Parts: sequence; structure tokens; C-alpha cells
Amino acid sequence: MLRALARVDLGAIERNCARLAAIAAPARLCAVVKADGYGHGAVPAARAAQAGGAAWLAVATATEAAELRAAGIVGPLLVMGALSPPELDVALETGADVVAWREAFVASLPDEVGVHVKLDTGMGRLGTRDPDEASRVVEAAGARAAGLMTHFATADEDDPAFLAEQVRRFERWIARHPGLPAHAANSAATLREPAARFDMVRCGIAIYGMDPLHRDPADYGLEPALELVSYVAEVKRTLPGQSAGYGRRFVAERETWLGTVPIGYGDGVRRGLTNNAELLVGGRRVPLVGTVSMDNITVDLGDEPVERGTEAVLIGARGGERILAEDLAARLGTINYEITCGVTARVPREYA
Ligand SMILES: *Cc1c(COP(=O)(O)O)cnc(C)c1O
Repeated sequence: MLRALARVDLGAIERNCARLAAIAAPARLCAVVKADGYGHGAVPAARAAQAGGAAWLAVATATEAAELRAAGIVGPLLVMGALSPPELDVALETGADVVAWREAFVASLPDEVGVHVKLDTGMGRLGTRDPDEASRVVEAAGARAAGLMTHFATADEDDPAFLAEQVRRFERWIARHPGLPAHAANSAATLREPAARFDMVRCGIAIYGMDPLHRDPADYGLEPALELVSYVAEVKRTLPGQSAGYGRRFVAERETWLGTVPIGYGDGVRRGLTNNAELLVGGRRVPLVGTVSMDNITVDLGDEPVERGTEAVLIGARGGERILAEDLAARLGTINYEITCGVTARVPREYA
């Protein structure tokens, strides 16, 4: 029994990729495995994605690319982030393609690297807003030009107007450079906007079986790949007036059984879940009570104590009950991405 464990179902990642590849076809699938595969483990996630039909892999940083190559992962790889000179050296050693939007940067690149030129059609971060400048970068890249790209700001929002505007701006620009593969869509755009798929889609969140639209991944036939589990390490009778945790944020109003689960914000269970979450303990849904501390949380088992050692699920499904990363995100006012990225390195990952 481990105090905290993230179980990752690589079969789910493979099936999610197969599903996304089928949805996007004839566009190809690029699986995004940045931030340690959104907390799932970049190397195993990358292998599962390739098995599921991902033609490309993408990461944000040069060291992420190096980690994949060091593990023996081959195939087309794109580093999507900005690269300082020392980071560029690391990226180039991996044989990854890089993103460019300034002529001076392209001039600093060697002959053999693939260059994806980025037009900023509305995200307002990386890329140039000026299509003429972007086209000059394509010309400067010459034979190294390997792709044309942009990134959407509102693909997961209800109002589709700005997404459509970004698609239009991108279409107008790529028409100047026929023959170069174009890619734009993240998971949300891939699922909801066929016109955004172009020659390749770059899916991250959806390959892990999370819903880019923040509701329910089952709506798209996606399977959550990560479970976060712990166990009940201690069970104690608690009388009215007795409390649990820092600040006494839970004080029993009636006699009850409390269970202590040895997982906390040091593992990525955010303190904002204080008195504001549920767990599946022995398959039963029970409330988290009291303050989330670094290494422990407490749950209210009511009148039914459980054996010490009983499994406690923070993210996952048991019987008819399930708790999604989306549920925790909603309670915290954040997005599912931050929930799985936030599972810390202290939590071992177990692959099945
Ligand atoms: C992270 C990222 C993606 C993937 O986004 P999801 O919403 O996780 O699918 C695609 N493109 C770029 C440039 C990214 O940074």
C-alpha cells in the first residue's frame, strides 16, 4: 500500500489518440506531451500516443525534447516554446523542429533544422502579428521551412466568433505558401471546429482523456487516463466538539468516524479543497473535511467506519461513482489541466 499513487492507464492514452486521429483525419495528429505529459509522465505518454497513431510529438521546452530522446523516443518532434540561445543548442541536438517568427532567429539556425513559422492570429503571445513579416520568415527559412502554425485563444469558450476570426486570418496567410503543412488546432478546436484542423492538429489535454471544454470527456468518447489514489491510514471516533486539522476548520457537530488519508498539497491536492471535495473511500462517496495540509487530509465517514488500509480515491471511478479532474477543477475555479499538472513529483506514477 503506497501512501499516494498516480495510476496511469497507457491503454486509455493510446485509445484517446486513436480516436482523435480518426476525428481529425485526414489531418495528422501531433500529441502534446509537455509538462511531463500533463503530469502523466512524458515518456510513457509519448510511447502510448505513438502507438495510438500520433504522427508527431510536441513539447514546450528544449529539455523536454531532450528527455524524450534520451529515453529512445524517435520520430518527428516539435519544440513549441521560445528558445534562448543555450536552449536552442539543446533543442537542435535532439533533432527536433523549432518554431520561428523573426528573421534574425532563422538566420541563427543551422541548415538541417525544420522550422515552423508562427503567425500570431490573436493569442498575443509568441509569433508575429504581421503576416508580411511571417512570410519573410518563411522565405528566410527557405528549404528549412517545415510548417506554418498559429494558436487559438478561445477554442474552449462558448462564443465561437473569435475562433472563426483566427481561422480566417490563418487561412489568408497560409494561402500564400502552398505546399507547407499548416497546423493550428489544440484539443478544443480539433473537437469542435473542423475548419481549424488543416494538415495537423496539436492535441494535449484530450489525449489524456480530459475534456478541453471542461465538462465531461465521455461526451467525446475520451477515457480519463489518470487516477489519484491513497488509503485510509487511521480511523477515529470523533465526538461533538472535537476537531480535525489545522485551524479547526472542521468541528464535529455529531458523533462520527473520521478517516485520515496521507496525501496533501505536497502531493498536489490543493489547499483550496479544504472542506470542499469528496473522495471515494471503499467505493463510497464521502466528504473531505477540515484543512488540506501538506501530507494529510481527513474525510468524514459518518456512522460507517472502514478498515485501516481501505483505498481512498481522489480522482478515478469505482463502481458507479466517479470523480473527474474536471470536478476538482470546478471546485477550485481552475481547469483540469492544472489538476493533473499539479500532481507533484512526490507521487509515484504506476503504469498499466
Ligand atoms: C499546449 C499547446 C497545445 C495543446 O493544447 P491542448 O489544449 O492541451 O490540446 C497546442 N499548441 C500549443 C502551441 C500549445 O502550447
